[in-house]
Amino acid sequence: MTAVVPATPTLPVPTGKRACVIGAGFGGLALAIRLQSAGIETVLVEARDKPGGRGYFWEKDGFTFDAGPTVVTDPPCLQELWALTGHDMAEDVTLMPVMPFYRLNWPDGTNFDYSNDEAGLAREIARVAPGDLAGYEEFLQYSAGVFEEGYVKLGTVPFLDFASMIKAAPALAKYQAWRSVYSMVSSFIKSEKLREALTFHTLLVGGNPMTTSAIYALIHKLEKDGGVWWSKGGTNQLIAGMVKHFERLGGTMRLHDPVVQVHTLGNKVTEVECASGWTERFDAVASNADIMHSYRDLLSESPRGRRWRAACRASASRPGCSWSTSASKEPGRASRTT
Ligand SMILES: Cc1cc2nc3c(=O)[nH]c(=O)nc-3n(C[C@H](O)[C@H](O)[C@H](O)COP(=O)(O)OP(=O)(O)OC[C@H]3O[C@@H](n4cnc5c(N)ncnc54)[C@H](O)[C@@H]3O)c2cc1C
Repeated sequence: MTAVVPATPTLPVPTGKRACVIGAGFGGLALAIRLQSAGIETVLVEARDKPGGRGYFWEKDGFTFDAGPTVVTDPPCLQELWALTGHDMAEDVTLMPVMPFYRLNWPDGTNFDYSNDEAGLAREIARVAPGDLAGYEEFLQYSAGVFEEGYVKLGTVPFLDFASMIKAAPALAKYQAWRSVYSMVSSFIKSEKLREALTFHTLLVGGNPMTTSAIYALIHKLEKDGGVWWSKGGTNQLIAGMVKHFERLGGTMRLHDPVVQVHTLGNKVTEVECASGWTERFDAVASNADIMHSYRDLLSESPRGRRWRAACRASASRPGCSWSTSASKEPGRASRTT
């Protein structure tokens, strides 16, 4: 992964088009910045009192508490949002490297420092699982292959129907995606501790390593290439930086006013209506709210929404990626102790 280098700041050239983005989480904010950068006058509408979505935060007694995400593993994804208009993300957000990425502690007193420092990681493996050095190299190659197929090629593909899933099937089959990440790692690694060290990441996305698809082994390669970063001041500062940049480009935010209906004419969206009664016309509307909620509730008046309503018997779930824990400076503790 290469850092995105900004050019000279430019102002978006207005296109005369207007768009509405529903949901001011990371996804909605990123899209709103992209649209505004392309000269499309964008209104970002958020149900809650603050932007951030799962990156919401609370303030109490002078302290700020981040609610969810803590670390960034693909900084270029964010840097691009500034570079689109020649800006530098560093104007608004300071990313600090986390090293080691994780320190794993076992009850028997064994520690394992996990990072992308190749020599350091090899030393750690030699210390904790000396018989697994060769197996680790094979696992790394496997992880790189899954990263290419599952993240680079399929990372932006929405699997909304069976046909799109079938198309991806050969690549997923090649990497035995039906197996669990634990089962796959165990085929390369003999040490139980190293197996745990290479599979616990699924817990960060709420997945059990014993049952979550081996596709998640890509996180190892993702972190190896991109590093693990922390936004100075917490994730709330990353959100604040994204909002600042969006507004600098001329975008507007509407908080504490959930969208209740996206009105349509045939297959075209026409207006967005919020709980307060605020209603506006847009050329395009994008929802980064839960996909079931978007089709079933917000588009309930449209033929497509009605079809989804009938089909949506199952509960909603959305993909996410996760890293967690604190930025501790306690002696003897790594910044992320697991
Ligand atoms: C505990 C935890 C830890 C995590 N740790 C990490 C981490 O360290 N690093 C990492 O990269 N990822 C992490 N993640 C995952 C990451 O937080 C999510 O992938 C990401 O925040 C999802 O962003 P999003 O914009 O897609 O969705 P959301 O954050 O869910 O945003 C959706 C937004 O839409 C709004 N909305 C919904 N309906 C409406 C409506 N009708 N009208 C208006 N607004 C609406 C919601 O209020 C919300 O703000 C973590 C997640 C959790 C829960």
